[in-house]
This record gives sequence, C-alpha cells and structure tokens, in this order.
Amino acid sequence: MTSPAAAASTTPLVLSTWNHGLPANRKAIEVLARGGSALDAVEAGCMVVELDCPDMTVGLGSRPDREGRVTLDAAVMTGDGRAGCVAFVQGVAHPVALARLVRDRTPHVLLVGAGAEQFARECGIEVRPPALTPKAEEEWRAWLAERRYAPKINIENHDTISMLALDARGEMAAASTTSGLAYKMHGRVGDSPIIGAGIFVDAPVGGAICTGLGETVLRTLGAHLAVEAMRAGATPQQACEAAIERIVARNPNPESYQVGMLAMDFTGRTGAFAVQRGFTYCLGTDLHDAPPRLR
Ligand code: ASP
Repeated sequence: MTSPAAAASTTPLVLSTWNHGLPANRKAIEVLARGGSALDAVEAGCMVVELDCPDMTVGLGSRPDREGRVTLDAAVMTGDGRAGCVAFVQGVAHPVALARLVRDRTPHVLLVGAGAEQFARECGIEVRPPALTPKAEEEWRAWLAERRYAPKINIENHDTISMLALDARGEMAAASTTSGLAYKMHGRVGDSPIIGAGIFVDAPVGGAICTGLGETVLRTLGAHLAVEAMRAGATPQQACEAAIERIVARNPNPESYQVGMLAMDFTGRTGAFAVQRGFTYCLGTDLHDAPPRLR
C-alpha cells in the first residue's frame, strides 16, 4: 500500500551503515534503476557485502564466535509490516536472502539455527560445512591464547551492513546482515535479526536501522524508538537523536560502546546519529560521518 506521503517521493533513496555501504548502495541503486523494488535493492546490496567484507564482520568470511563457529544473523522488513529474519545460522552464504524467503514463503517472522538451515536446504540453498578463512582462523587462535573478551567500539569488530531504501513507487524496505560480535558466546544473537531492534519500517511513517553493540539496542528496541518518534512528529534526524538518547540513558558507560542509528521518512528526509565519533554511513553514493552524542 502506498501512503499519500509516499506518493510524494519519486527519487529512489538508499541509506546504509559504514564504509561498506558504498558498494552495497551502488548495487541497490542499480537494482532500483532497473525498476526493482526497495526490498530487491536492500537484499541485493547486503548480498554484495556478504560475499566481500574486508572487515570480516558480515558473511561466511567473518570472525567466529569463541568456539570457532561463524554464526550469522539477518533480517528484512517492508513498510507493510511484513518481515523475515534468521538468526544463529551457519554455513549459509547469503543469510539476507534466506531472511527474505522466510518473509515471502513462510507464515513466520524468525527462524533460528538448525531450523533455519533446514529451511535453507528446502529452498535449494547450499548449507556449507563449518569452515573459517585462514585469516579468521589465525586471529581466532591468537584470541584463544588470551581469551579476553572486550568488544571494541566502531570498526574493529562489529560492523553490520544495514540498509534502508525508498523506491520510485514510494515503498520502503530495510535489511540487515551480520556475524554479530567477534568471539561472542556460542548462541549469542544480537539486535540485527530482531524486528524493532536492528531494523524497523512502518508505512506511512518511515524506517530506521542500527549498528553497534547489539545488547544496548535490544534493551531499548532502538529502531522502533526512532520510527515511533517520527510517528509523533520528529524529523528523521530528531528521531535518531531521541533514540540514541534513550539508548545512552538505559546503558551505562556510553564511552565504552558504539551505536549508529539511521532513519528515513516517506518523503525522503534522512537522519543519522551515533553514540560516539567514528560511525560512517552512506547516502546514495556519498560517504558521511554521523554526528556523535559524546563530543
Ligand atoms: N549490531 C550487531 C550485533 O550486535 C553488530 C554490529 O552492528 O556491528 O550483533
């Protein structure tokens, strides 16, 4: 369903997290230019990073959990409230595409672990045996020597790709895909595959996406906070600031973690805000630094 506000927007828009948002956005813009939907665009954009993520934070080439397993989380959502998510999935090259299949082909929103992998096989998707890239294996073995768990802020070890797109038909979609935190506990799931936490879209209001320390976002349902702020009249920028403010209020020691928040409304206005300096995001083909809460 296209809202009146949506009908006003004709310029396709793509917004995404971190530097790897650039190749993702380029792919998404290509898909939109061919007449693809916002959902097609964010799925295709995320898939680019799943295949090639030099930061080792998205896809099968990621750093593993502390048991040496790469476990992946992903989600998609459209403005009509339809969503699909997978969490704690192993051996699947494109968890975002699997999340879309959960949305499109099942009566459910979230499949996890072995059940999600079984669904992948039923859809004809290869589920590979556990493996680490040589670099991930070397880093994990070095980590095991000390076993010190201290997730760092910003780009070092948590760098989800999350995307928001608005297509020429005025439809909005969001997607996210990640390996979560390096050396997390086996079984840990972050905010990215949880609707309302890592991503949320609601027509005719807008959408929001997050990245950063997932536990802080899960405690507050960060993306939902931002969309509800827009529903109450905030601009996307004010909405991002309000959501980050609540995250900081609920999670002590903000200097020890990072969260980046992006939002877009159906008229094409966007917003970006982060707990700390260092959160980069991409709007179209431009890279920006988000203003920080801590100065
Ligand atoms: N939010 C993700 C998680 O906690 C990580 C990230 O955004 O980099 O799983």
